[in-house]
Amino acid sequence: MPDVLHTPACAVHLLSDGVSYWDGGGAFGLVPRVKWSKILPPDEHNRVPQELRSVLIQTDGQNILVDCGVGNKPNDVIAAQYEVRRPRGHLLDDLARHGLAPEDIHAVVFTHLHGDHAGWATRMTGNPSICAPTFPRARYYAQRQEYHDATHTNERTRNTYFPENYAPLMQAGVFTLLDGEAEIAPGVRAVPTPGHTAGHQSVVVEPVGHPPVLILGDLATYMIQFARLPWVTAYDVLPLVTIETKRAWQHWAHAHQAALISPHDTQIPVGRLVKTDKGFFDVQPAAL
Ligand SMILES: [Zn+2]
Repeated sequence: MPDVLHTPACAVHLLSDGVSYWDGGGAFGLVPRVKWSKILPPDEHNRVPQELRSVLIQTDGQNILVDCGVGNKPNDVIAAQYEVRRPRGHLLDDLARHGLAPEDIHAVVFTHLHGDHAGWATRMTGNPSICAPTFPRARYYAQRQEYHDATHTNERTRNTYFPENYAPLMQAGVFTLLDGEAEIAPGVRAVPTPGHTAGHQSVVVEPVGHPPVLILGDLATYMIQFARLPWVTAYDVLPLVTIETKRAWQHWAHAHQAALISPHDTQIPVGRLVKTDKGFFDVQPAAL
């Protein structure tokens, strides 16, 4: 996978932890199947592919990871819900291809703490009941609201959050909870983008002399969902908030000609927002 961006001061790389298959109705919510299936044909079980994508940002002498896949810890819910057909849990191999070991990561930013974004935050130790941070020198970041919701689940959210991914971070004292926008490194900031979850955040990279990069997280699971405001997943806990968040960031992305990175799109990993002849937004694959 080519780099999204490579300047002497800043590089952005796409990584993957595998491809999972999820129910198309969950991915597209109220959008009729007759519409979304033309864009993303489902398999015989009505499932659609979702890349488990992470982003590596290298700037200012730091290696920053945004999201960290589904991981390799045994988990019955993940096994049942996130059918991963391509090898699951190869994020660390992908990192190694960039010459990096887990101890080379300085920061891990979670867009949110769902199981398909926080899996590699921890891994099992020699004692099977104990998990420890996978990236031993990293500081981990999420919004305080997200951590609250992940630790106060209800019947709807329970099967999306797995404490073994983040409780050990708090115990180890390596988890920083953010209250709104925050600089992670020079030119790299976390920005609240609520809707998928109340405490969801995205990451903006602003390299000098280049258009910015917006790492969407699940603000839009697929690129088409960033372009079409009412196309929201069934998983979003605040779908009407998602629409307003997307509306604001659509205008920002178009005005800045930002490169957009999708968390799960297998067809358009990186795109740019364009306006069609009819005045609607669309996302086109970005030339890398
Ligand atoms: Zn996701």
